[in-house]
Amino acid sequence: MSYPKLFNPGPVDVSKETFAAMSQTMIGHRGSDFEKLYASTQPGLREIFGTARPVFISTSSAWGVMEGALRNLARKKVLCLCCGAFSDKWIDVARKCGFEAEAVQVEWGDAIDPEAVRAKLAEGGFDTVTFIHSETSTGVLNDLSGICKVVKSFPDTMLIVDTVSSLSTVAMDMDAHGIDVMLAGVQKALALPPGMALFAVSEAALERAKTVKNRGYYFDFIEFEKNAAANNTPCTPAISLIFGLQFMLGEIAKEGLANRIARHAKTNAMIRAWGAKRGFELLAPEGRRSFALTCFKTPAGFDLSSFIKDLKSKHNFLINGGYGKIKGTTFRISNMGNETEATMQELIDAMDDILG
Ligand SMILES: *Cc1c(COP(=O)(O)O)cnc(C)c1O
Repeated sequence: MSYPKLFNPGPVDVSKETFAAMSQTMIGHRGSDFEKLYASTQPGLREIFGTARPVFISTSSAWGVMEGALRNLARKKVLCLCCGAFSDKWIDVARKCGFEAEAVQVEWGDAIDPEAVRAKLAEGGFDTVTFIHSETSTGVLNDLSGICKVVKSFPDTMLIVDTVSSLSTVAMDMDAHGIDVMLAGVQKALALPPGMALFAVSEAALERAKTVKNRGYYFDFIEFEKNAAANNTPCTPAISLIFGLQFMLGEIAKEGLANRIARHAKTNAMIRAWGAKRGFELLAPEGRRSFALTCFKTPAGFDLSSFIKDLKSKHNFLINGGYGKIKGTTFRISNMGNETEATMQELIDAMDDILG
């Protein structure tokens, strides 16, 4: 039996066409073939990021850039906006990098309140803020514009935004929001195999990075900027993944970004409606729910592990049984990437078959 089809919120299912695009003849990364490949990704990436800045390509998972952004921008004290497994982890990472770090912490399943961020920043001393737009562990889509407005009202405070599971599922406007670093991994809504992250850096953040010592080499923003100006990367990148990215950006251009966003809203609504019919409640509050994935509360007495196991053994579909401290008490279904109303219906039919 082949591996199950992933409806897990990352990595997600990768199409045969994407794999085919990735298996082109290898090229060297210091030469015009690569420069053309790199340059070809920029218009599409800038569109989905909503930026006129270059979008850098990092051969690492998202965490590489999440840590790297702190090492480039933080001076002393970081404020981490914590509302789930990924955002809570970021404060540990900040401390492991040697920074002082404090949290605005809410219950998992709740969204970050911009006014709470304002109150915390007003205490003073914070030079950098970490924020996750779509908290993939809980299915919460935080208030991006509200948070950005608040953070931007504190001068010299750098704002790092993780859009790992929201990029290309909702419209993004990095420049209008004044985001200093915006980043995403490619294995979520871009439906590529894992191993690469994308990020853009504001001019103010580059200026800040120049003043920060010990920012290291592999994720040094100044190195990225210098190389990007020549359509290149500081180190040997995952060239096959960039072939895949080029293909995927072509697919997004063909579909149209607005249509892609509308497709995610539709397929997500299908899963929410299925849950409502089946009596599964959503963890995230109304109005603050991701369009990329759905996180349901496991009802009392519901045999979640058998449900997931049977769905896999009988239909070869894999959904996720909760992440971090809400493993088992929640479960998650992704509609990211290439999924359509037809493929989501296949999953729904399969889940209905198991539930009877
Ligand atoms: C998946 C995910 C990450 C972690 O990405 P890696 O690729 O494992 O480094 C970070 N943030 C969010 C919101 C995610 O969904």
